[in-house]
Amino acid sequence: MTQKADNNALDLLAIGAHPDDVEMASGGWICVAGKQGYRTGVLHLTKGEMGTHGTPEQRVAEAAEAARIMGCASIDFAGMIDGQLIDDAESVRTVANILRRLKPQVVLAPNECCHHPDHEAAARMIRKAVHFAALNGYETGLPPHRVQRLVTSRYSAHFEPSFYVDISDVIEQKKAAILAYKSQFQTVMEEDGKPLTRMSKDGFIDQFLSATGMFGLKCGCRHAEAYRVETAPLVGDPIALLNEGPPQHLIR
Ligand SMILES: [Zn+2]
Repeated sequence: MTQKADNNALDLLAIGAHPDDVEMASGGWICVAGKQGYRTGVLHLTKGEMGTHGTPEQRVAEAAEAARIMGCASIDFAGMIDGQLIDDAESVRTVANILRRLKPQVVLAPNECCHHPDHEAAARMIRKAVHFAALNGYETGLPPHRVQRLVTSRYSAHFEPSFYVDISDVIEQKKAAILAYKSQFQTVMEEDGKPLTRMSKDGFIDQFLSATGMFGLKCGCRHAEAYRVETAPLVGDPIALLNEGPPQHLIR
């Protein structure tokens, strides 16, 4: 990673459409990066106000608790409308300005192919914002900022990962960050007849985290998260890189 000119700049910023998205997709890496001494942050584009359970105020409080658990240095909300995310000029400018303020080196975004249209719109919006935030001629009131690398997190659609992050040592921390969204894990039917959701059904969290076990199997550790980059990174010491993790004959 290149040397940061600004000590307040973030090393890693995870951006999600709804509170709990980044915790579920990237909570492990965020926890690992925090333990490694990097400055991490989360940006929630909406407050998840379309969700079946939980008020926006609850979701904000839960998001703050999740960020605390993951050791984040910053948490931001872009104030966009749940269910109506769109990669238009105004939304892109909002995200670009936040990027210029937080100055992250690595940005985590959802996948452009996903089960939720908001996630797909967010992915396009973030890609454009990363591009325009770097340009001198793009006016937001803050100086340009160049993100070193945009990384795609794995949500619902499968992709062939560019790399895995070993999250074995932080799996309980990731689980705690997800469970901080108490409103989403409500296991009793509410009086107003709001139905149980997939997340609130018994056993969801363990089933969800079994995916990190599967990725761990693919790269030779107990739990891993999968990530993709669109352009191959330049590696200064390929021998050291390829010596990380277990040898390939242990990978399934
Ligand atoms: Zn979401």
